[in-house]
Amino acid sequence: MSVERGVPLARMTTIGTGGPVRALARPRTLGELEEALRFAQGEGLDVVVVGLGSNVLAADGGVEALVVRLEGELAEVETRDSTLVAGGGATNAVCLHRARAAGLGGFEFACAIPGTAGGGVRMNAGAYGRDWSDVLVRALVVSADGSGWLAPGELDLSYRHSGLVLGQVVARVEYRLEPRAPEEIKALVADLVARRKDTQPTNKRTFGSVFKNPPGDLGAGALLERCGLKGHRIGGAQISPKHANFIENAGGATSEDCVALMVEARRRAREQFGVELEREVVFLGGLELP
Ligand SMILES: Cc1cc2nc3c(=O)[nH]c(=O)nc-3n(C[C@H](O)[C@H](O)[C@H](O)COP(=O)(O)OP(=O)(O)OC[C@H]3O[C@@H](n4cnc5c(N)ncnc54)[C@H](O)[C@@H]3O)c2cc1C
Repeated sequence: MSVERGVPLARMTTIGTGGPVRALARPRTLGELEEALRFAQGEGLDVVVVGLGSNVLAADGGVEALVVRLEGELAEVETRDSTLVAGGGATNAVCLHRARAAGLGGFEFACAIPGTAGGGVRMNAGAYGRDWSDVLVRALVVSADGSGWLAPGELDLSYRHSGLVLGQVVARVEYRLEPRAPEEIKALVADLVARRKDTQPTNKRTFGSVFKNPPGDLGAGALLERCGLKGHRIGGAQISPKHANFIENAGGATSEDCVALMVEARRRAREQFGVELEREVVFLGGLELP
């Protein structure tokens, strides 16, 4: 297993920002993953997994860590009866495709979540009233200290939260699905995708939701819209004119531009509504939201 140096995170994140990584490993098997973790330990480096990079913002100066991307066997998907078994690096799109081909439903909610199985567990990603905790049977978590299968309760899943910490890699995921006709799945997905297109930017470079929805009736998007932030721009980053809880790379954005927009959004939400917004996006490489 080889290690690459200096690869820009801008190439691995959906927002398209982020500086070079200290080291990048692309393990294809559990053995290679363990080798990568030993390498990081030997070099004294933190281990950061990047899936599709669809909910991360990485420092422009880069990240002093071993970045791991799961490929090969660790991104494969198969079905066993009504269980879908996915490598941690398998994309949600491939999982959904395989589930539909096998006549298994229950994963349609993930159709517009552009991430991987492992990223879904870490974020307890969700949409349309369902999240990973509804379909997850167990996840194989590997770290420098060893590996083991963890059930949802042990992963401490709640709204866009898990108890997973730096250095823990979700290498495999098992989902429990239910028999459903492929045409029914197709129709449901088409409906959910259409609903998404009406309300959120779908063809822009973003990292998904910037902030978690605060308690109460007003979601983060509606709140920031009332703060007059739609279309607000700093440098190359702008608050989406379509949905105020998204930041778009409008051309040449840096991560610092995105952070500056987040600071402004939090300030206005605090001053105008007395709400302290909590970020959903994961920061890599020492970025901070003061
Ligand atoms: C257009 C758009 C729409 C989105 N819509 C939604 C939505 O509706 N609902 C929702 O919940 N999210 C949404 N997101 C956010 C994002 O897609 C999800 O959080 C997704 O689950 C992240 O998966 P990922 O593989 O891209 O993880 P990344 O963004 O690469 O990483 C996110 C976090 O997970 C960790 N991680 C990734 N893989 C692993 C692994 N194998 N093992 C351990 N840790 C890992 C990373 O270290 C990081 O801490 C959206 C994003 C975009 C760009």
